[in-house]
Amino acid sequence: MNLLITGGAGFIGSHVVRYFVKKYPSYNIFNLDCLTYAGNLQNLKDIEGYRNYNFIKENIKDKIKLDNLFKQYKFKGVIHLAAESHVDRSIADSNEFVLTNVIGTVNLLNSFKKYSINIVGSRFYHISTDEVYGSLGDTGFFSEDTAYDPRSPYSASKASSDHFVRAFGETYKLPYVISNCSNNYGEFQFPEKLIPLFIKKIIDKDNLTVYGDGNYTRDWLYVKDHVRAIDLIFHNGKVKETYNVGGFNEWKNIDLVKVLCKKMDMKLGRKVGSSEKLIKFVKDRPGHDKRYAIDSTKISKDLGWKPEYDFQKGISITIDWYIKNQKWLTNIITGEYRNNI
Ligand code: NAD
Repeated sequence: MNLLITGGAGFIGSHVVRYFVKKYPSYNIFNLDCLTYAGNLQNLKDIEGYRNYNFIKENIKDKIKLDNLFKQYKFKGVIHLAAESHVDRSIADSNEFVLTNVIGTVNLLNSFKKYSINIVGSRFYHISTDEVYGSLGDTGFFSEDTAYDPRSPYSASKASSDHFVRAFGETYKLPYVISNCSNNYGEFQFPEKLIPLFIKKIIDKDNLTVYGDGNYTRDWLYVKDHVRAIDLIFHNGKVKETYNVGGFNEWKNIDLVKVLCKKMDMKLGRKVGSSEKLIKFVKDRPGHDKRYAIDSTKISKDLGWKPEYDFQKGISITIDWYIKNQKWLTNIITGEYRNNI
């Protein structure tokens, strides 16, 4: 089949593309990405030469170009990850989030409706976030039935795109699946997100600025576990169903930062406790959600998924990778990675 993966040059997308290219040699895989600041083809250097891998530099905001591509390639499957993904950027300027996350998704849905909907077994898979559910108190979990309550421009745009996907399912019988996943961590994550940002800061002995009192709680999942969930949902998930994906692995931000400090002190041969001294609390992020926690019972029961990496193992692999690949980090900081565009 011709399989379109959008946003494949980003963090999660590059892991998805690599996994599918290697696992499914009979699929023709098309990675469509416009290479925003978050898109980095260096993430996919190792699979560039694979016969079943194709890269298309295109923008999902351009509906005519999308129509032409769908007409030409008759994609049977779409795994849609392309998005503006950083909450702080959405607070600074929400416009791009509407254009890419909402309108871009609707453009893809329309092209799929025109050219893919009648292909037997075709499927549109939207990758979404647990942030659409809003914020939890000290207890409880988000389930697939939790009402949407997005509180940042980022989560509002993802909630809106989820609604459009479901609306196309009802209105046009478009065969879709959606998954809402918790925070991912791992290799190739752009160093504006908490874990790679703090790893870089610890390497550089820079201040570790933590929002508010640091008592915000997130559920962290190693990216390769998310990718295995995506594979299962894409192939075995039921049409019109939603699956929550999470690690039952909650961490308060401040505790997570302390784990990074301790592990990195040991790995970098520094005195344990020295990096923790770099922690500084700063003014809170507006509308900061207190706690996210995912109940992933459904995917576990229906599709047999559970995370393979416990947090200590996943975070250790992640830290080692960033320490070993400081050139990748430096290329991003200096802008060097954009020279290939
Ligand atoms: P990312 O920011 O690392 O990558 C996004 C990719 O999309 C980039 O390669 C970028 O160039 C591309 N892109 C952006 N706008 C585009 C456009 N208009 N046209 C074509 N390509 C465009 O994001 P990520 O962290 O890998 O997240 C991928 C998806 O997973 C997003 O939809 C995000 O909402 C969702 N998600 C992320 C997390 C997480 O923890 N990172 C958790 C749950 C869900």
